[in-house]
Amino acid sequence: MKVTIKEWNAVASWRWDMPEDDVCGICRVQFDGTCPTCKYPGDDCALLNGQCGHSFHMHCLLTWIQQDASKGLCPMCRQKFEWKKSE
Ligand SMILES: [Zn+2]
Ligand SMILES: [Zn+2]
Ligand SMILES: [Zn+2]
Repeated sequence: MKVTIKEWNAVASWRWDMPEDDVCGICRVQFDGTCPTCKYPGDDCALLNGQCGHSFHMHCLLTWIQQDASKGLCPMCRQKFEWKKSE
């Protein structure tokens, strides 16, 4: 197996230096922005990190979870959504 440095650089050059799921899975806005219902980022529009590894704006997730269709599941992977409580 031979992989040249040149090829590695070519691959690395187009990849963003951040994970692909750096956007809210519900509204598709980046996490350093706010959900569609908020104007300012910050504690009022916190992020919820699910045990399944998916993260959402708090407001987006709450809107989703209140729908009967959600059944309390993560909208991305359909596992039961439980978020890691942070202080
Ligand atoms: Zn969102
Ligand atoms: Zn919000
Ligand atoms: Zn998930």
